[in-house]
Amino acid sequence: MKIRTLLGDITKLECDAIVNAANTSLLGGGGVDGAIHKAAGPELLEACKELHGCDTGQAKITWGYQLPAKYVIHTPGPIWRGGDQGEEALLADSYRNCLELADCHDCQTVAFPSISTGVYRFPLEKAAKIAVETIKSFESRASVVQEVILVAFDSRTKEYYDRALETV
Ligand code: ADP
Repeated sequence: MKIRTLLGDITKLECDAIVNAANTSLLGGGGVDGAIHKAAGPELLEACKELHGCDTGQAKITWGYQLPAKYVIHTPGPIWRGGDQGEEALLADSYRNCLELADCHDCQTVAFPSISTGVYRFPLEKAAKIAVETIKSFESRASVVQEVILVAFDSRTKEYYDRALETV
């Protein structure tokens, strides 16, 4: 399994699945969630309504509709509340549950945004380490997933992910 970082807009990627850093309602929001819904078109919101929300750290899948990606995997990451509310374990749950869902749906390529590090304020350095650790520990269990792309929307985020990839 290959893991790489990319600076760019996740909605443009032609991979089997892109992950959405959603909220628990799954009914859309700002940041990457808003961008994904805008690019996928209104059918995505209709599909999300049928899912009746999602708990933090869990994941649910829909088609990608107008997106170049076949699927969208929606996961609400944890809101950072200082670190003693199980935030780190919940962020790892998000990455792991998305990868398991991707693997079950025959996805070879999966792209992640930097879950929880925007409006949810998870510290970037910690989040990058958790992302890389969780993806690496999934490697031995992956039967279909061959490539994971960590998509950063700004260069600072990309630097933290690159550093985590070298050190973790
Ligand atoms: P959260 O609520 O989980 O913190 P946000 O959407 O606020 O989610 O931010 C998560 C990350 O996604 C941030 O680093 C933000 O800059 C990034 N982001 C925003 N739009 C896009 C996009 N179109 N493609 C990739 N990443 C994006």
